[in-house]
Amino acid sequence: MGKPKILGLAVSNLASKPATIEYPKEPTPVEEDFRGRHYADLSKCTGCSLCSIECPADAIKMTPIPEGYDVPKSNPRRIYPLIDYGKCVYCYRCISVCPFNAYIHTNEYRLADHVISDSSGLSLSTLGKGGVK
Ligand code: SF4
Ligand code: SF4
Repeated sequence: MGKPKILGLAVSNLASKPATIEYPKEPTPVEEDFRGRHYADLSKCTGCSLCSIECPADAIKMTPIPEGYDVPKSNPRRIYPLIDYGKCVYCYRCISVCPFNAYIHTNEYRLADHVISDSSGLSLSTLGKGGVK
């Protein structure tokens, strides 16, 4: 590349936006279908366990729903899929096998934490308590 071409490139780069972003000040752009954090909507989940059986990473443990939550009659065993995000490989097999379309999926990619995080808080927040949602 000749000198004038390099100079032209340098000047145009000075005038253009940087290729990098200031993370975490600016969020990283992700594709629309990016597989981020997901969790079961317990108002739809029947506790059938299929997602747990099918999970290739053994990241889903069927777990009792704590007392006090309004559990739908369609879930007589009062259990739900608890996802260990530390084990999950984000294949989304659980989502595709769920016969009740009970999974909520997001683009959330900021998963680093100082403790092992799981889906309990997100899933339990989909249920009401004492008749109140
Ligand atoms: S996305 Fe894949 S690895 Fe993660 S919980 Fe679902 S089935 Fe398991
Ligand atoms: S497959 Fe669907 S309905 Fe069955 S336990 Fe998993 S989330 Fe619940």
